[in-house]
Formats: sequence, structure tokens, C-alpha cells
Amino acid sequence: MKKFTNCGVKVLYIILLIIVLYVPNVVVAASAKSIPVLVYHRVGDTADALTVKPEKLRGDLINLKNNGYQTISLKVFEEYMSGKDVELPDKPILVTFDDSYQDNYENAFPILKENQCVATFFVITWLVDRNQDRLTSAEIKAMAAAGMSFGSHTVSHTVLVDKPDFWVQNELAYSKQFLEELLGTPICSVAYPEGKFNANTIKIAIEQGYSTGFTVEPGKSTRQTAPFKVCRIPVFSYTLDVVKAINNAPD
Ligand SMILES: [Zn+2]
Repeated sequence: MKKFTNCGVKVLYIILLIIVLYVPNVVVAASAKSIPVLVYHRVGDTADALTVKPEKLRGDLINLKNNGYQTISLKVFEEYMSGKDVELPDKPILVTFDDSYQDNYENAFPILKENQCVATFFVITWLVDRNQDRLTSAEIKAMAAAGMSFGSHTVSHTVLVDKPDFWVQNELAYSKQFLEELLGTPICSVAYPEGKFNANTIKIAIEQGYSTGFTVEPGKSTRQTAPFKVCRIPVFSYTLDVVKAINNAPD
């Protein structure tokens, strides 16, 4: 009996030791976590740097999965960046696509589903249902229903830093409104056309109700990153190893 009690005390001691030693590390790891954000454009057979072949996207997603990465939704990313208490996988990653090409539905969407991944698509809203090379409203709705996220890439893809305030206001307000009406969910993120922004762009984005802005500056995002200066790691047709590209990106 005495032996049993000693054994019980020992086990309790070990459990307490594990809690004391391990839990603070977990808390530190969670707050210090950085989230890489990838940016793709077209997925198809066009021969240019901004088009990746479908096989490459598939290979990238498998490579990410094999290295422990798990894709997260834009909502989770926005909440993390705004300091909310959000549950993240061990190695979270946000996969984004700019310019809302139709091949994102045709080619990328099935590959994402096949690999149980989610992604975020930044839409040029004026082109929806108007340009056959871009996503239609029906495609956007179908993708959203399958867990994909959407953000604004403005109405017309005008570089915002070159325009007067009223123009920037309209680009940000009407693209947000279009997607919110289409999807029935709040749209809180914008990807700046050509990644270009300045202090005034951010000021107007905040006034229009955005919480997060995506650039094309290379790097990873932590909670210390300004939420309107989110860095992204571009994936080009010639990016051989997406995990190496993440590892080489500045912190
Ligand atoms: Zn763009």
C-alpha cells in the first residue's frame, strides 16, 4: 500500500513537472508564431512567370502538407492579426490568389479540395460576370460554399497610391459592398493592386471598415506585423520549392 502511495506521489510530481516546464513554452510558442502568406496568380498553361501549372500547385500543396503546414481561412488569419484568441494549427499558412482569374475556379479549386486545403481569393469586382477570363459570381459563391475565403482586390485594379481620395474610397467601398452582398459575410481584407499602398491608403481602408491589408513585400506575418502591411511570399512558375521559399523569406 505504502509503495503504491509513493508511486502515486511520484506520478503526480512528474505530471506537475511537465505542466510547469511545458505549458509556459507552449504559450511562448503560440504568441511568437509567424504565419507565412503565399500569393499565386494564374493556374494554367499560359507561359509566364505569374502562371503556375496545375501540377505545380498540386506539388506545392503536397510539399506543404509533408512539411507540416495546414492552410487556414482568411477569417482565422484576420482574427489572429487583430490579437484575438484564436486556435491555430502548429504550422499555419495562408494561401492567397490575386486577380480572380477564371482558372482559379477551373484549375486551382479542384486541386485545393483534393488536398483538403482552403485558400483566399482577392477579387477585382468590376470584372465579375463581365470578363470571361475572370471568376463569375456563381463560381465565387460555389467556392465560398466549399470553405474558400474572399477579399477585395479593388473594383478596377487601379494602383491606389496614384489616385485622389474619392477614387480610393470608391475602389475600396464598392468592392467590399459587392462581395458582402454576393456572399452575405463581412469582407475585411484588401490586397492592394500591385502591392502599392501608402499611409493615406491605410487611413481610407480603415475608414471603409477594413481590418487587414495585403502587400507583396516578401516576409512572414506575426502579431507584431502591422495589419495593413501584411507581407506575402510570391510563388512564380520558376519557384522550385515553396517550402524553401518560405524558409528564405525574411521574418
Ligand atoms: Zn493584382
